[in-house]
Amino acid sequence: MPPHPAHDHAQCLAEFDAASLRRTRRVVQAKDGPHLLVDGRPLLSFASNDYLGLSQHPALIAAAQEAAARYGVGATASPLVCGHEGPHEALEAELAAFVGRPRALYFGSGYLANVGLVPALVGRGDAVFSDALNHACLIDGVRLARAEAHVYPHVDLATLEQQLATSSAQRKLVVTDAVFSMDGNLAPLRELLALCERHDALLMVDDAHGFGVLGPDGRGSAAHLGVAGSPRLLYMATLGKAAGCAGAFVAGEADTVEWVMQRARTYIFATATPAMVAAAVRASLKAIAEEGWRREHVATLTERLRAGMAGLPWRLLASDTCIQPLIVGENQPTLDLAAALRERGLWAPAIRPPTVPAGTARLRISLSAAHSTQDVDRLLNALADVA
Ligand SMILES: *Cc1c(COP(=O)(O)O)cnc(C)c1O
Repeated sequence: MPPHPAHDHAQCLAEFDAASLRRTRRVVQAKDGPHLLVDGRPLLSFASNDYLGLSQHPALIAAAQEAAARYGVGATASPLVCGHEGPHEALEAELAAFVGRPRALYFGSGYLANVGLVPALVGRGDAVFSDALNHACLIDGVRLARAEAHVYPHVDLATLEQQLATSSAQRKLVVTDAVFSMDGNLAPLRELLALCERHDALLMVDDAHGFGVLGPDGRGSAAHLGVAGSPRLLYMATLGKAAGCAGAFVAGEADTVEWVMQRARTYIFATATPAMVAAAVRASLKAIAEEGWRREHVATLTERLRAGMAGLPWRLLASDTCIQPLIVGENQPTLDLAAALRERGLWAPAIRPPTVPAGTARLRISLSAAHSTQDVDRLLNALADVA
């Protein structure tokens, strides 16, 4: 008998194992871009979201070190107490300018940003409309908001329009990933904004996977689709992916962002991100804008990978971003494929439910500007070999 029979976690874990759902961690002991030492073995990684290869950029490391020397390694309090320091203030101004909006607010992580933003914008009596494939933290934000929640089928604008038209809520908010994190496709932001115009809704986009990669100078999906300046758009992006650091930000109209700062509990009741991280993000913004070769290189690698994967027995999704999923279907064969690659010195993660819908388990291959053409060819050869 377990000590607390109602909490038999050994049984819970056994059920997870039976469904091939248990997740494990591996210890990365050293890294040089995508070349990792994992549990004592060298592995070439196609698992990270370091799309531009900035996470080990010398200028970012130097900026973090300098700020650590001046401000220490911890911010010591919430930004609304004494945790908002020089680098945070400067960073917010630069982020706002970079995405072409009046104001930005820097959050501890993308998860915190989304979970704080949705309830800050809508509550009881309001309505929120959410794409079925939105990221888990948007879903959690919607749950916490206590607004009437409508989930529309993935990028199904007709259903969304119907839901918007029949809702009598006072305030309406549409939330969507800009680049869907497990599929790599782009949301039709222009059409979504037009719907929001027609039904007086606000559009909140999560550009975790577009910021730094898409748009002129990497200014993100909204810039890429020509809607960055829309006052109806609230733009959110994370800084732990292409930017190579940590944290996230929301950018929009000054009053909206001020309201978010007053209301988002994950901003107010969390210790500020260390100044050294904010300083690293400032250096990252400069690299994103000035080192356009990173975007060009990763785009070339993406084309090469897609062309090479076309003949494989797994389903390739229509994505032209750095996210290139191969759909296997069931959980165990997906784990087997990932294991076969690992035996060949390659790391591409198996993604299973609940991260993706049941029956669509996949290998989520992601590319980085730190990869070489030879790295991509090694992956292609290994996939052909396993197939
Ligand atoms: C990764 C991710 C987040 C979470 O951002 P973190 O900074 O890692 O907490 C939010 N939204 C999407 C779409 C993501 O892919």
